[in-house]
Amino acid sequence: MVSCYADLSGTKGALSEWAEHFKAETDRIKRLLGDDANAWEECERSLGAIRPVVALAVEEGARGAAIFARGRQVVRGFPLPVPVENQIVVHATPYLVPLLQVLCRQREYLVILTNTHHGRLYEAGPGELRLLHDIEEDVPSRQRSAGWRWGKEQATIARHREDRILHYQKELVDRVEKVSAEHAFRGLILLGEHEVVEHVRKRLPARLASRVVRQAPQAWTEEPLAIRDHIQTLLAEVEQAHEAELLGGLEQMLRNGGGVVTGARAVVEALQGGRIGTHGHGYLVVGSDPREAVARCTACRSLSVGMPTRCPRCQSPCVDASLWEEILLFALRHEVAVHCVKADTLLRPHGGIAAVLPGTGADARP
Ligand SMILES: [Zn+2]
Repeated sequence: MVSCYADLSGTKGALSEWAEHFKAETDRIKRLLGDDANAWEECERSLGAIRPVVALAVEEGARGAAIFARGRQVVRGFPLPVPVENQIVVHATPYLVPLLQVLCRQREYLVILTNTHHGRLYEAGPGELRLLHDIEEDVPSRQRSAGWRWGKEQATIARHREDRILHYQKELVDRVEKVSAEHAFRGLILLGEHEVVEHVRKRLPARLASRVVRQAPQAWTEEPLAIRDHIQTLLAEVEQAHEAELLGGLEQMLRNGGGVVTGARAVVEALQGGRIGTHGHGYLVVGSDPREAVARCTACRSLSVGMPTRCPRCQSPCVDASLWEEILLFALRHEVAVHCVKADTLLRPHGGIAAVLPGTGADARP
C-alpha cells in the first residue's frame, strides 16, 4: 500500500514543485526496495495511479492531498484545504497520521462582518470560508441638516433610522446566538468599521463576547467572499498566538509538575481512563510521529503501550498498530481536543506527547 501526502501550496506552480519532490521520493523508494523487483513493480504502478489524482487536486484548488493506492488502483484520494508535508510511505496498511492531524486541526471560527445595516456570518477555517447568513435591514440614508430644511420631518426620519439600525443589530446578534448554539465554534472574529463593530460587540451576551478572539477593521464588500485572503491572514495570526500561549502554559505546567501527564503510556492511560475527553475539557498536545507501535485489542479496541499479546481488559488477542494513529483516532472518536505542534522541542524530552487534564488552565482549549 502506498500512502502519498502532497504539499500543494507552492507559489511557483504547485504541481511542478510537487513533481520534483515526487521524483526524489520515487528514487528513494526504488533504492530502498533494492533487489525486490516485484515489490518495486507493484509500488511503481501505485505511484503511476497517484500522479493524475494529485494533478486533479491542484486543478480543484486544493492546498494539499492525501492519496492511498494499492497496485494500479487509488483506494482513496482526499483533496485537502490545508498543505501537508510531502511524503510517501510504503507499508502494508495506509499511513493515516498526517490526515488525522488535519482532521484534528479543523478549527472553525464564526466570522461576523458588519456595517450599520448589513451583516454577514461566515464559518471560517484553515483554507476555508463559507457564507452562512446575510442579514440586511432597510435603513433610510442619513439626512443632512440643511438649514431651514431641518425640521420635524427630518427629526422623524433620523429617529426612524436609529430604530432601524437598532433593529438590525438585534437581529444580527440573535442570529449570532442561534448559530453559536448550533455549532461549537472555536471563537468569534468581528470585522467592520471600529465604531460599528463596538456597538455590535456590546450587544453580545457576555458568554459570546468573551469568545471574541479578534476584532479588525474591514471595509464592506459587495462580493461576500472578497474577504477570503484577509480572513486567512487573521486566522493564521490567531492560531499562532494561540499556539504560543498554549506552549507557554504547557511549559509552566511541566515545570511545576501538575495538571499534565506526558509520554505515551500515561497519555493512553489518561485517555482510556476518561480523565480527558467528551465531557470535561482537557486536551492533547501532540508532537511529530515517532513511528512507534501500540498493541490494540481486536475485541474492545483498548490500547496497551506495553505490547502484550492479549488484552489486559478482556483477554482477547491484540494486534500491532501505529501508536500516534491510534491516539489521534481515539481523540477524534471521543471529541478530545488535539493540538498538533511542529516545533516540539518542548515535548521531545517528555515522549513527544502530553495530556493537559481538565481544571488546570485547560479552559484554554486548542
Ligand atoms: Zn480487549
